[in-house]
Amino acid sequence: MRIPFIAGNWKMFKTKAEAKAFAEEFKALYKDTEVRTAICAPFTQLDTLKEAFAGTTIGVGAQNVHYEDEGAFTGEVSLGMLKEIGVDYCVIGHSERRQYFNETDETCNLKLKKIFADSEITPILCVGENLEQREAGKAAEIVEGQIEADLAGLSAADVAKLVIAYEPIWAIGTGKTATPEQAGEMCTLIREKVQALYDEDTCDQVIIQYGGSVKPENATDIMANGDVDGALVGGASLVPEKFMGIINF
Ligand code: 13P
Repeated sequence: MRIPFIAGNWKMFKTKAEAKAFAEEFKALYKDTEVRTAICAPFTQLDTLKEAFAGTTIGVGAQNVHYEDEGAFTGEVSLGMLKEIGVDYCVIGHSERRQYFNETDETCNLKLKKIFADSEITPILCVGENLEQREAGKAAEIVEGQIEADLAGLSAADVAKLVIAYEPIWAIGTGKTATPEQAGEMCTLIREKVQALYDEDTCDQVIIQYGGSVKPENATDIMANGDVDGALVGGASLVPEKFMGIINF
């Protein structure tokens, strides 16, 4: 039985003071539910959120990590640094990182391997096609290719603990949500791909989220498909009532 998982991705939003204010407001609204919840915040706000959410079931995630232990990698953050803060999750391969910061399937794969080898952190791997690829009828091929390349060499036990977020690029921050059918179809395709690469047990356990303009108003419909286990939420996760509305879908 998979537990629904709703995660917020704050991207490059909120200062420390704003993160603190969000946490206080959100905790006041939050009640322990059957739904797993986390906020993935900028690096500089991770310790603030860990402290604010201590004693609650609200998880905290980073948005990136480097695959080397340490070294001359200006501007990067290592797994050891994240472990020291005690983060629970780490987003890997978000389309914005693939698009603007040269993240490739190869580096996503190295990062996933590093996280599983040396930590208990749960990676949230993002995959998804752009508009041109969807219009060319290539969405399935693109996403299957990403899954195959990003998971290469990972064990079934690792993949069973993984979270995969299907985020069609054309639906991110555009207000243009995939229809529940499109989201469901692609999440099913991802689950079937995991089954083909691994086995039925692994495919039953892997958590698959949909991401792209999820709001309280569309969350119920999107989550209705049995293969959609939750959501990765951008804009709406910045507002406590909106994020809570999605958690209560
Ligand atoms: P929006 O919810 O703002 O469309 O962002 C989705 C996303 O990219 C989450 O990672």
